[in-house]
Amino acid sequence: MPDVETSCLQCKETFLFTEKEQEIFYQRNMMPPQRCPKCRSKKAASSENAPRRFDIVCDHCGKHDQVPFQPKVGRSVLCRECHEASRSRAKFA
Ligand SMILES: [Zn+2]
Ligand SMILES: [Zn+2]
Repeated sequence: MPDVETSCLQCKETFLFTEKEQEIFYQRNMMPPQRCPKCRSKKAASSENAPRRFDIVCDHCGKHDQVPFQPKVGRSVLCRECHEASRSRAKFA
């Protein structure tokens, strides 16, 4: 079987699905890849260090907590409890 040119689902670049790779894929009964090797390795890398968590100290109660986003410097961060509390307070305000 000759090499197949496939276009990547993610970045739309064409990449080569080589004869050797095809052999491996068919042997393992796997679907042909839909992403280029670059995007595939990017995906592997991103799933490796996910979920990302940042340690914070609550501005309100001083408790240590973790948040899924990078806290902005100079902005107050709240732990989950205080965040929930301030959210429900805002709802009733
Ligand atoms: Zn790609
Ligand atoms: Zn708190």
